[in-house]
Amino acid sequence: MQTIAVAIDGPSGAGKSTLARAVAQEFGFLYVDTGALYRTVGLFVRRCGADPDDAAAVEALLPRARVSLAYRDGEQRAILDGEDVSAAIRTPEASRYASKVSAHSAVRAFLLETQRRLAREQSVVMDGRDIGTVVLPDAQVKIFLHASAEDRARRRMLELDGRGTPQPYEEVLADIRERDARDESRAAAPLRRAPDAVDLDTTGNTLEQSKKLLIETVKERMGACGIESHE
Ligand code: C5P
Repeated sequence: MQTIAVAIDGPSGAGKSTLARAVAQEFGFLYVDTGALYRTVGLFVRRCGADPDDAAAVEALLPRARVSLAYRDGEQRAILDGEDVSAAIRTPEASRYASKVSAHSAVRAFLLETQRRLAREQSVVMDGRDIGTVVLPDAQVKIFLHASAEDRARRRMLELDGRGTPQPYEEVLADIRERDARDESRAAAPLRRAPDAVDLDTTGNTLEQSKKLLIETVKERMGACGIESHE
């Protein structure tokens, strides 16, 4: 059976996960949030008390990291050594650890096969930073989704408010800028638009507008490469 891969890359807070999930639902594909894998490695490193910036220390821990994704009732869960850490990896501290450990090439190599295996086994919508460039360079559809840092900070604030962990706008914006800089400037798999990815800027859009735009774009791209979407 031929599997189909939709790769969605872009910076933090561009609404990738919500939008990618909607695309997966539309086409009946599995949604894979690869950021959860980096977050889980980050949590592991924190629990081990290691410095996430220390590449050698992080690499030395990896053989003991038992990180995987599981799917329960269609929802992705992040698993660390048998424990469901899906909630624990969503704190601002976990975001910082994830951003730091993901800069190490050993961490990226460690998670590569887990991501590729999922895409071999079923059709996926996979979101991340390097899906179209490194993980699934042959993905039939590639999207680069972005929005201004200010727009993303406002969305992130609403999300944090909703979770009962509010944070001031300036702090959220600074955090986003810092993570952007790290994602874009790292030597290992920096955040880049794949040359064959469709560029979608969602600045100023409502979620519904972005969803419609993204689904239409994916349909168009699938049509262009002869893939029928089952509607
Ligand atoms: O997407 P999310 O914000 O959950 O990702 C957490 C961190 O993991 C990001 O800051 C990014 O540095 C890293 N990441 C990555 N490559 C991916 C997905 C996430 O480097 N494919």
